[in-house]
Amino acid sequence: MKRLLPVMLTAAMALTACAPAKVSGSTPKPTPAPATPAQPTAEAPKPDPTPTPAPAPAPVETKPAIRWLPRGIGLPLASDDPAAKGKKVVMLTFDDGPSGAGSTAKILDVLKAENVKVMFFITGYGAKNIDLVEREYKEGHLLANHTLTHADLSTLTVEEMRKELDPVNAVIEKVTGQKPKYMRPPYGMYNKQVQALVRDEYHQELINWDDGSLDWDGVKNGWKDPKLVVDEVMKQLHPGAVVLMHDTNKHTAEALPEIIHQIRAEGYEFVVLPN
Ligand SMILES: [Zn+2]
Repeated sequence: MKRLLPVMLTAAMALTACAPAKVSGSTPKPTPAPATPAQPTAEAPKPDPTPTPAPAPAPVETKPAIRWLPRGIGLPLASDDPAAKGKKVVMLTFDDGPSGAGSTAKILDVLKAENVKVMFFITGYGAKNIDLVEREYKEGHLLANHTLTHADLSTLTVEEMRKELDPVNAVIEKVTGQKPKYMRPPYGMYNKQVQALVRDEYHQELINWDDGSLDWDGVKNGWKDPKLVVDEVMKQLHPGAVVLMHDTNKHTAEALPEIIHQIRAEGYEFVVLPN
């Protein structure tokens, strides 16, 4: 559980995360991150006109790292509550699915076998696999909104944002009987307008991540070795970590058992946010 500087991580993650996340053949790919998102505010990560996998860009965000996650470093247990500060908890999150190509089902099998609950941030593309959305819910996982078309919300008008958020909220409410409490903006991109809409109109919390897994780079770079995903998750692991992965990725599904075993071996407990 080596702790990396969240501010470095999150700046780096924001630039590339999610962009090429859709791999599986059967579902449409989300639109890649626009080259020049409109005026992100101080809270939003700086857009990178040419997202590249590697090295941490110079951190431009000088505010406390936790501002990246509006809720704190992922988990209230590890940040909001001083008594719980540093508690070895971790939350696994999976974006962009469900995938009908098999990786989501495989991930659900592993989570069931290991008795781990996670958050799934689902897209409109993924929600077409309604049987998998229902399975995620029935097996005790927390469902949240990741937009209809995987759009960069920071480039949209309020009306356009509603068109991205409403349909996925409706699917989740239909399946769970409850409006989702959380949303994650694609690419981690948001601005004051996104924050205000999500908070004031939808009464949801924006949840990003601070352990990036780099499983999307596996797609970009042609990595085939799930071990690279395992190693990256473990390298970024820290108390209160929110781990970003993609259930649309075959190699993430393959990596998951080892990720869970190694995290447990480090003495961590898996948690999800309250619903
Ligand atoms: Zn995504």
